Amino acid sequence: MTTVIQNVKLLNEEGELVVSTIVIENGKIASINGDIPAGATVIDGNGHFASPGFVDVHTHLREPGFEHKETIATGSASAAKGGFTTICAMPNTKPVPDSVENMQLINGLIKESAVIRVLPYGSLTKDISGEVRTNMQELKEQGAVAFSDDGIGIQLASTMYEQMQQAAKLDAVVVAHCEDNSLIYDGVMHEGKRNKELGLPGIPSICESVQIARDVLLAEAAGARYHVCHVSTKESVRAVRDAKAAGIKVTAEVCPHHLLLEEMDISSDDANWKMNPPLRAADDKDSLHAALLDGTIDCIATDHAPHTAEEKCCGMVGAPFGIVGFETAFPLLYTNFVETGKWKLKQLVDWMSVKAAQIFDLPYGTLEVGASADLVLIDLDKEQTIDAEGFVSKGRNTPFNGWTAKGWPVVTMFEGNIVYQEAE
Ligand SMILES: [Zn+2]
Repeated sequence: MTTVIQNVKLLNEEGELVVSTIVIENGKIASINGDIPAGATVIDGNGHFASPGFVDVHTHLREPGFEHKETIATGSASAAKGGFTTICAMPNTKPVPDSVENMQLINGLIKESAVIRVLPYGSLTKDISGEVRTNMQELKEQGAVAFSDDGIGIQLASTMYEQMQQAAKLDAVVVAHCEDNSLIYDGVMHEGKRNKELGLPGIPSICESVQIARDVLLAEAAGARYHVCHVSTKESVRAVRDAKAAGIKVTAEVCPHHLLLEEMDISSDDANWKMNPPLRAADDKDSLHAALLDGTIDCIATDHAPHTAEEKCCGMVGAPFGIVGFETAFPLLYTNFVETGKWKLKQLVDWMSVKAAQIFDLPYGTLEVGASADLVLIDLDKEQTIDAEGFVSKGRNTPFNGWTAKGWPVVTMFEGNIVYQEAE
């Protein structure tokens, strides 16, 4: 089967938009600007920007175990609507993908209901309890894309070190949510200025940065590849930057909300502003921007974390951490950083696709001939106000409700098939 998308704009090497034609055969990119084969199905791209489908290495789909928050079907459809075609699912489900049996269960659910490519993480410890280590080789054979206990920091250095040694043998990546529990005092937002004004318990910056500093030294000793989740503080940036300079195999991601928001944006005790790590101070946010631009931070990941309205209803204390991210990530970043001239469009696209894929050796996030036909057509001029009620995700928990943004996906294609199309 052959599909042709005519009249789209592609980014060239110089980062300019050039009108192009994409020919897709058997789910792969067959040619760019080549001849249109006879009998092909022709789609008019309406002059929209054709980006590689986005790759999100940090997502929570909640199934199995928490289907009231999200399912693989709703989460993957929400991702498709946001232009994502490959997402990595974190293991804080019930059961946790910590055994062959559980990995097989989760793979079965993904096969049944995902509309895009969903790659599951395996956990670093049994039941992500930080105690008993998993057999990573076994989990890798079942398709684990990488290994993480995201949501909780690995408290014992010995546990992390032993799993990094296993990972080094398998050439697998250890992916860490860094949080030293001995430095947390039941905080719900950044330990800074605004938490005191609101009378809410704080989460100090050091509970993230000290664990990153520990882990990069462990990664060096183990010879392991180590990826830091959702970097949020300037001290964390410094630790990653220094580690890279020392030749340690470390990579890092940042979330859209940490680039867009800071603690002082929180005006009331509203749990739609509660996430972990929390929104930090203005100079932390500045350091994250600088780190993306100088390559210290490699990619952008949403940490899409849906919860129900009931769970998020009643203030920060007691509400779970997390906000949704798939359906707003590109338009928010495009509007606030590309349209304003801070970033080039190519930088944003690379951070959201190929650079994320490269961390895990995934052959996705490009529109080269021979690549999987995973792409998203984006109307860069379309302006729309974010309305959480209209999300495909079951989660409505976002601090961006009511924001206006440009650059909305209109068609998402996965392996050459349309998996999202904007309603007429
Ligand atoms: Zn996390």
